Amino acid sequence: MSTNSNRKLLAEEAEALADAARINYFNIVIESGQGAVVKDIEGKQYIDLLSSASATNTGHAHPHVVRAIQEQAAKLIQYTPAYFANEPAAKLAQRLCALAPISGSKKLAWGNSGSDANDGIIKFARAYTKRPYLVSFMGAYHGSTYGSMSLSAVSLNMTRNIGPLLPGVIKVPYPDPWQRLKGESEDDFVTRMFAEFKRPFETFLPAEETALIIIEPIQGDGGIVKAPTAFVRKVAEFAHSHGILFAVDEVNQGLGRTGKWWSIQHFDIEPDLISVGKSLASGLPLSAVIGRAEIMDSLGAPAHLFTTSGNPVTTAAAMATLDVIEDEQLVQRSADLGKEAKEFFEAEQAKYDFIGQCRMYGLDGGIDIVDPQTQKPDPVATTKLIYRIFELGAIMISLKTNVLRFQPPLVITEKQLHQAFKIIAQAFSELDEGKL
Ligand code: PLP
Repeated sequence: MSTNSNRKLLAEEAEALADAARINYFNIVIESGQGAVVKDIEGKQYIDLLSSASATNTGHAHPHVVRAIQEQAAKLIQYTPAYFANEPAAKLAQRLCALAPISGSKKLAWGNSGSDANDGIIKFARAYTKRPYLVSFMGAYHGSTYGSMSLSAVSLNMTRNIGPLLPGVIKVPYPDPWQRLKGESEDDFVTRMFAEFKRPFETFLPAEETALIIIEPIQGDGGIVKAPTAFVRKVAEFAHSHGILFAVDEVNQGLGRTGKWWSIQHFDIEPDLISVGKSLASGLPLSAVIGRAEIMDSLGAPAHLFTTSGNPVTTAAAMATLDVIEDEQLVQRSADLGKEAKEFFEAEQAKYDFIGQCRMYGLDGGIDIVDPQTQKPDPVATTKLIYRIFELGAIMISLKTNVLRFQPPLVITEKQLHQAFKIIAQAFSELDEGKL
């Protein structure tokens, strides 16, 4: 398995036979991973700056997680939690409810993906409030099932030819600080954007018939964009004053990614419901909706469950994942290394006009690549950069066509991080010199 033709064949086969919906990136077949490094079938190593789309915060093949999976698999791989409890799921439910940034009595519902968790949020919100309408934000990605995709508004390619989507979803503008007008203060920006947010409620959307407002406090696929704190607080207050449930999607940004356990903790707000997935079981399929107990009790048990959700192996992996995050202080590590990354990208930005804005919250970054003259998105330069970075030995992808996505595993070593900076700096410099 080490020739070029082998590699090409496997990649082509994978594409042709199994992965009709795969996004085409690099022509490699990943064979193994260790910490923040992945290896392809030819033995070439890459520093992983993507973490399998923020699904491996604890890195690849962490020994504690691997051991937990092996031991649990030898005991019991599956018995559906729909009918009987299992020990790892019961323990994890307690631990997750204690960790969730919601006060009072809490409960959770298991799922297999971030998408189905957000579908669950729709169901819980409608069942509890007995109201139909749902509000989400432009630029959001909440998932790929019909419910969660109906809440999403990030890409035409995702919704083309599959409509109509779920009725009753109203999209409001997300306050991307990049859209601040010249000379507009942050306060004025928040006032303007909150007025935009309220407009549907003042014209066609009865607040008393609205069940849910769901937000990614830091948008992931929307470009790693953090809404102003005052805006998110106003939205949460609006929701609560109208009996609307306020939900946060932590699937991408939760579990230490942004330098806090949960991204909503940057805003000091308590949501009614949260969804979590991706990194929860270090990338094994497990998600959860966590919410105030009275909300979670409003839905009859069979209305949101899947045969394999809350499976003993995935929940044992999640227990081990939480151990690693705690024992290795990965939340603080994300905050600390994120500061270094911010300094690195800001220093590069000072050198080159093609770097528009750098956003970095913990090890969670979005770096805009723009046309130096117009400062408009430059998808061609972005593609050249990520391809060169790949050639030089790091895996990085783009969001929204022109945003470099920086989400390495939180266990990345200083040495690996510095190596990644070196690679990225070289690609920037080559782009600047017209070599790409
Ligand atoms: N929510 C957010 C914020 C996401 O970024 C994603 C995936 O990228 C999802 C939900 C969907 O999760 P999954 O792909 O596990 O269904």
